[in-house]
Amino acid sequence: MNLSQYLRRKSHVVRIGEVEIGGENPIAVQSMTNTDTNNTEASVAQIERIDRVGGKIVRLTAQGRKEGENLKNIVAQLRADGFDTAIVADIHFLPEVAAVAANYVDKVRINPGNYRLDRGELESLIAQCKAHGVALRIGVNHGSLAKRVFDEWGDTPEGMVFSAMEFLRICRREQFDQVVVSMKSSNTRVMVAAYRLLVKAMEEEGMTFPIHLGVTEAGNGLEGRIKSAVGIGALLADGIGDTIRVSLTEAPENEIPTARLLADYFQHRAGEFVVKYPERYSPYVYRRRSSVQVPVTHDEELDGFRILEAESANPTAELRAAILSLEVADEPVVVRRRYMESDLESVAVKAAADLGPLLLDGLADGIWIDAPQFDQSEIREVELMILQAARVRYSHTEYIACPSCGRTLYDIEKTLAEIRAKTSHLKNLRIGVMGCIVNGPGEMADADYGYVGAAPGRITLYKGREVIEKNIPQEEALDKLIELIKRNGDWADEE
Ligand code: SF4
Repeated sequence: MNLSQYLRRKSHVVRIGEVEIGGENPIAVQSMTNTDTNNTEASVAQIERIDRVGGKIVRLTAQGRKEGENLKNIVAQLRADGFDTAIVADIHFLPEVAAVAANYVDKVRINPGNYRLDRGELESLIAQCKAHGVALRIGVNHGSLAKRVFDEWGDTPEGMVFSAMEFLRICRREQFDQVVVSMKSSNTRVMVAAYRLLVKAMEEEGMTFPIHLGVTEAGNGLEGRIKSAVGIGALLADGIGDTIRVSLTEAPENEIPTARLLADYFQHRAGEFVVKYPERYSPYVYRRRSSVQVPVTHDEELDGFRILEAESANPTAELRAAILSLEVADEPVVVRRRYMESDLESVAVKAAADLGPLLLDGLADGIWIDAPQFDQSEIREVELMILQAARVRYSHTEYIACPSCGRTLYDIEKTLAEIRAKTSHLKNLRIGVMGCIVNGPGEMADADYGYVGAAPGRITLYKGREVIEKNIPQEEALDKLIELIKRNGDWADEE
């Protein structure tokens, strides 16, 4: 990582069907279907919709042998329709399904948490991938590390890196370089730390595998986009990332324009900045620079804050350099940038990507989006969402909602809207809204309460990691969730 200018990390090229990522290739954007993988027609239609808006890599869940086998029909239909979309099979629990899927798709994604290295499962998958010209993604997720890794490292960025490196070393030993790696989390701070530590570990061992970026369970609407932009933007600003996914609890084709906006925004990061005191910064350790506990928005009391304004094409590096060159190291700082775009989403995504990383690293103490073309209360909302996404100030309930996939057991978009309508006034709470019991509980990581699909029409409620009530009919589940929050003293009436 270079503090004074933008330098893209050097990675080697990995071919996923007709798409190349890594090397000098532009950052690729991708999405994932939320159809049933056994439903060929619906899955193909959705992949084609994603492809038409520019998503040239699409992942499908393959939770069992049946789904793995049906990938054959999906790929055949897609090709017959004239689409060359690169298809990725998402394998979670059953290594034998990866072997089936490798016959049909362009890339297989596995979660190391579910692979037994002592049984040679990875070596046999690598042999399959080599034989079929299929790429592999080592997709580590915060919240689903293997037990032996968890026991040694806990659910930490270091544990995630350990897990990824074990698998990457085997890939290298087997002379297989068509491998991409990811380190996702719904917690932006964990996610950024994990990727940065991974890059460091790979560099120490001379590895150049390309990197896939994503924030899991980001939610929907402006909030989901902002959360992704803060996490992904922080890493793109470091020059890390060859392909990205903006996970939203919405129709998957909605993910592509936001991902594209973000990827394109990092194409031109010009400028070189003098950093007077680089020793004040570490990308690996979170440290609040000043004593300001609650970072501010632009329309709050700003006496005592120094306003630093970005003017260059690399606002994050410019502002970071200015902060790291202050003569008084802990002087409180508000970072400001002007945005003239006419749509609020573009302003929100760009500001989250530019200014969010400075909050995420503990450097800035306030944020000022200078966009006079909008109602200032709307801008303040965006600023609050950025502060929350960077985990420095909580002003509303945070929803850790999965983007849904072929495993989802209920209409998650509609349910999330219903839960939000009743609970969004609860500050400082995190509610997980997850489509399935298989991965949901692990992936909602640090949620305070969880609403998880247990079977069709049935919900299981969690308090932290503890199951409270199993298999409730969905019609009763929201009321029961509210009761549970009340019982634990976390409820407040709306002001
Ligand atoms: S938690 Fe959601 S996205 Fe993850 S596997 Fe389950 S249904 Fe799919």
